[in-house]
Amino acid sequence: MDRETLEFDVVFVGAGPANLSGALHLARLVKQHNEAVANGERTGQALGDVEIGVIEKGAAVGAHILSGAVMDPRALKELMPDFVEQGAPLESPVKEDYFLYLTSKHALRSPVTPPPLKNHGYYIVSLNRLTAWLGEKCEEAGVNVFPEFPGAELLYDEDDAVVGVRTGDKGIDKEGKRKANYEPGVDLRAKVTVLGEGPRGSLTKELVQRLNLDAGREPQVYSVGIKELWELPDDRYSAGRVTHTLGFPSDTHTYGGGWIYGMQNRILNIGYVTGLDYRDPLLDPHAEFQRYKTHPFIARLLEGGKMIRYGAKTVAVGGYFAMPRTYADGVLLVGDCAGFLNSQRLKGIHSAIKSGMLAAEVIFEALLAGNFSAQQLQRYEQVVNESWIIPELRKVRNFHAAFKHGRWLGLINSGLQFVTGGRAWGLFDRDKAKPGHEEMKKLSAYGYQGDKLEQRYDALRFDGKLTFSKLTDVYHAAVGHDEDQPVHLHVLDTNICSTRCAEEYGNPCQRFCPAAVYEMVENGADGRRRLQINFSNCVHCKTCDIMDPYQIINWVTPEGGGGPDYKGM
Ligand code: SF4
Repeated sequence: MDRETLEFDVVFVGAGPANLSGALHLARLVKQHNEAVANGERTGQALGDVEIGVIEKGAAVGAHILSGAVMDPRALKELMPDFVEQGAPLESPVKEDYFLYLTSKHALRSPVTPPPLKNHGYYIVSLNRLTAWLGEKCEEAGVNVFPEFPGAELLYDEDDAVVGVRTGDKGIDKEGKRKANYEPGVDLRAKVTVLGEGPRGSLTKELVQRLNLDAGREPQVYSVGIKELWELPDDRYSAGRVTHTLGFPSDTHTYGGGWIYGMQNRILNIGYVTGLDYRDPLLDPHAEFQRYKTHPFIARLLEGGKMIRYGAKTVAVGGYFAMPRTYADGVLLVGDCAGFLNSQRLKGIHSAIKSGMLAAEVIFEALLAGNFSAQQLQRYEQVVNESWIIPELRKVRNFHAAFKHGRWLGLINSGLQFVTGGRAWGLFDRDKAKPGHEEMKKLSAYGYQGDKLEQRYDALRFDGKLTFSKLTDVYHAAVGHDEDQPVHLHVLDTNICSTRCAEEYGNPCQRFCPAAVYEMVENGADGRRRLQINFSNCVHCKTCDIMDPYQIINWVTPEGGGGPDYKGM
């Protein structure tokens, strides 16, 4: 097959905040260096034109970017001290902070906001807008940004060094045949490839397995955040107000919590996070969020309002102990790919930006040295360790693990961490850490008779005003995929779905997917139900790849440009 090859110096895979910050910082470092050499202010060789590319699977930069989000501006200030004057799209500075404990009927306000959830000096942002703006800054700095270019596979040399990325083919039909508009993917060869795909990146997953980058580390654990934007009829919730909640509707053994942020123009940003290490096989993160909104306090807040947008995305919450090795020959991992999110503070944008900048500085040194080996790129781990990223993560290193023993021990540990600096003195057996999907119990072990959802969500109804079905919500994520393309959710053995999984877990993919992609329908072999994959609904959250109890779902990139459009989210 004739496949075009393009030569780059550095290719960033994924146009998120980490990679865009990295690409921008690198372009500036190169420019400053070349100018300094030309002016005689610096000795050594100019680097000349350094070709930097950023590829993005979404139709536009930011289209697949979803977050809460309250941003700690620390890293953005380092990247661009005058970010406000430069027009960074900020919804509002945080003006008020609240922390509520929700019982089933009441909202109890904590007299003090826990320090990790104090957001004074931070900004409520739409990460979609902020990312799109960073993309513009990259283009102004001469970076080549390519939307609709999904990274389909990494390119390796004979020594397993990463030498670039192959983008996905276009114009393949659902049978795998070429259509009239067929275009083969392009090989983008690069001295360094930077993976900033977000949580559970498909290329990162393959790289980590292939090169054993997680040897000696704990398995990564994840949560899924489900979010809606609401248009309120009046100013009842002002821009800049931040509320975090704990309690209802999660049971005490399920990690979960809610957020409510006030944006401009009476837009309310509301969401709920569920830990993807839950035990109850009937749990449905989307239904948890819908129940959350039925709490009297939340329902009152939303009364008369209109839901206008929906989205879902996972976050990596394993923290310090679960970070893989972040470098190898020719490749670096940044942002959520590397697990830099601080789950106690619910913040990762700042560390993503910072990690992208540090990657840029290390790549700049590698370009000067002409050396892109793991030995040279190892410096990235060193500078990350010396930066504020790792001290911040070390202080909360036992945060998520403590919640495995229930909400109350988790909260006690969370408070104690301030005194102990994050130590837990063997309270959590780190050797027993396991991936989240292994925490899910079988239906019978959980005490269920069959898989009727009412056993957990007896009173939940979708009224189309306050609570919405997955399909209604997905409509508000503006998802689009060409239906005539191969399914991008590879289920390696669908026989398990009809047999073992149906009996043991009641096909939990139907529940943990927040976009109604997986459906067990009648008319399978032997009168059993069979799996139907409604892939065009997929919002690219990666929950299925993470939470499937048999680990037989493999999420791969669909044709470029498909997926949600998280405009304003
Ligand atoms: Fe998320 Fe998987 Fe469902 Fe797509 S199919 S929306 S990645 S859970």
